[in-house]
Amino acid sequence: MALRTIRIQGDPVLTKKCKPITEMTPKIKDLIVDMIETMYEANGVGLAAPQVGILKRLVVIDVGEGPIVFINPILLESSGEQTGDEGCLSLPGKAGQVTRPNYVKVKAYNENMEEYILEGTELLARAVCHELDHLDGHMYTEKVEGPLHEVDYGSEE
Ligand code: ZN
Repeated sequence: MALRTIRIQGDPVLTKKCKPITEMTPKIKDLIVDMIETMYEANGVGLAAPQVGILKRLVVIDVGEGPIVFINPILLESSGEQTGDEGCLSLPGKAGQVTRPNYVKVKAYNENMEEYILEGTELLARAVCHELDHLDGHMYTEKVEGPLHEVDYGSEE
């Protein structure tokens, strides 16, 4: 287990499309453990593999109910709307208003490559949308409404 270096906006790795994971390997298992540790250390609620320099479709999220691993996630449904402050570990100390769906339904694989379906609302829905965007090379700053502002400590996602 080891902390990984979080890439900061401006790093080209954050603008690339990530590749699916075809099989679980010891290397990917280590990556998952490291990403969860790195997310907690940074006080984030989510982290996508490209944020630690790995171009694979892998996300970890914890909105306070324990870590969830998303491998090759696909957004099946989304509805509703929420507008609120959003931050990113790749843009520390900043936040901005972003409108996201208030409900999402996602299909993904867990760390044992078992398929599952997850439904989430509010912060979980926001985190899912934010992290899935990372897998296609997008940052929340592309969707931000109005200026970014400074935040005191850590960031939301
Ligand atoms: Zn982010």
